[in-house]
Amino acid sequence: MAAKSQPNVPKAKSGDSVTNDRTASQGQWGRAWEVDWFSLGSIIFLLLCRTFIVYYFIMACDQYSCALTGPVVDIATGRARLSDIWAKTPPITRKAAQLYTLWVTFQVLLYTSLPDFCHKFLPGYVGGIQEGAVTPAGVVNKYQINGLQAWLLTHLLWFANAHLLSWFSPTIIFDNWIPLLWCANILGYAVSTFAMVKGYFFPTSARDCKFTGNFFYNYMMGVEFNPRIGKWFDFKLFFNGRPGIVAWTLINLSFAAKQRELHGHVTNAMVLVNVLQAIYVIDFFWNETWYLKTIDICHDHFGWYLGWGDCVWLPYLYTLQCFYSQKRTLRQGVSEAELRFDPRPPGPRAHTPVLSLGKAPLDPFPLVPQGLYLVYHPVQLSTPHAVGVLLLGLVGYYIFRVANHQKDLFRRTDGRCLIWGKKPKVIECSYTSADGQRHHSKLLVSGFWGVARHFNYVGDLMGSLAYCLACGGGHLLPYFYIIYMAILLTHRCLRDEHRCASKYGRDWERYTAAVPYRLLPGIF
Ligand code: NDP
Repeated sequence: MAAKSQPNVPKAKSGDSVTNDRTASQGQWGRAWEVDWFSLGSIIFLLLCRTFIVYYFIMACDQYSCALTGPVVDIATGRARLSDIWAKTPPITRKAAQLYTLWVTFQVLLYTSLPDFCHKFLPGYVGGIQEGAVTPAGVVNKYQINGLQAWLLTHLLWFANAHLLSWFSPTIIFDNWIPLLWCANILGYAVSTFAMVKGYFFPTSARDCKFTGNFFYNYMMGVEFNPRIGKWFDFKLFFNGRPGIVAWTLINLSFAAKQRELHGHVTNAMVLVNVLQAIYVIDFFWNETWYLKTIDICHDHFGWYLGWGDCVWLPYLYTLQCFYSQKRTLRQGVSEAELRFDPRPPGPRAHTPVLSLGKAPLDPFPLVPQGLYLVYHPVQLSTPHAVGVLLLGLVGYYIFRVANHQKDLFRRTDGRCLIWGKKPKVIECSYTSADGQRHHSKLLVSGFWGVARHFNYVGDLMGSLAYCLACGGGHLLPYFYIIYMAILLTHRCLRDEHRCASKYGRDWERYTAAVPYRLLPGIF
């Protein structure tokens, strides 16, 4: 099936943008105009399943000590019914709703009311007002880049609270984890629905809207390209960076605090995941201007995929490792105080510390939910294992950062730079925006961009694998992240290539001839 596009695109509004203002027709190299049966089926499947997947993972940790097969086995063998599992799931609470509202409001205020001052004193950091890429309709949006400042102030407040103010417990996020999940879902669905309605009735830039004529596709993949409220509140930049990515490091810190509260110390696995993911997050905010030129901002429209994904999927599933490394089991009717850890020092392969209830040992990975709640279950890695994970994470980060930097530098200087100490090889290319204007661009064929067409994704995948390996080999659950990232980035690679082929035509073919592999030379 191919649903036809709707011609009744609303009139454009002038925002704080530089536009090539001639006609309201659309470019052909943006998001898909037509929806085939496969895309539609995938969209409906994802809409139905993604919310359930998040619930399943978090519930499996909460009630089954992170054993992913636990709920299925129990239901299949009649030991539990869906209604039993649901009845044990903590509901939304007033406290969680207040916390979440406060959190999002605080991030909105930091985003909209505090112009960037970090770029005034941090050498090398690019913040303040910056321009995005040319959109398919020929618009160049301006952005207030102040994510690093928001991250720093939020974390400063977090540490001030933990060490001086004591306004709230550092374990607050962990302690309200499932009630907060419902709040995040409410925001995710509300913002996606609002964005859809806005796209139809009061879009920011009508010429960059896309209507496929299929409701589900429009809802999932978005109608508006860069929805905004007022001059600076950009939905894509806000929701992807904050509350999602600022929250990422806070969630990890809260999990570490919980580990210390319950066990008296923080394990090396928890430290590793916190450090490696913090590097990734700080890198994101340090390079927020670079982020304006990535696919999220340059290609994806703002719909449920980004809106709900940023509010729910990212904070809940990207932090599974930390959640996993401190999952707890607690028998119903037994208080935490009655549970204690076996005091034996962990051996070199001590991934499964023994829990004990009085003198009776508890199975740390039970498949049967004998009314379990969470109890602390740390992973302590041997030194060679920890060093290996650290090295893999750092090498992955190095490739990720250098590859992204090479492209950014190349584009910023229009090729007048050195890549690996040499003048870069270039493919000159051109494309047409919806207003009929011809633009010129360049593709880099040197450095990591000469090794494979998306070698930056390989670095990202190595880092992702390192987070998972930090959790040892006891369970599949923490490896969800690398499986998901492999699928996400392979799919992203294919859709980006499709977009670039439509945008650059023959010039893109010259690039694929010069650099034949997408991710791994000789393999893919
Ligand atoms: P890229 O940064 O690879 O950007 C792709 C775009 O770069 C293309 O559309 C094209 O845009 C341009 N381009 C492609 N090849 C060349 C070349 N040889 N020379 C110059 N420009 C080129 O993709 P993403 O935006 O997907 O990813 C950015 C980073 O973010 C990656 O490192 C990725 O791993 C990471 N990421 C992480 C995610 C996570 O959830 N953790 C999710 C998604 C991404 P143009 O139209 O300008 O030519």
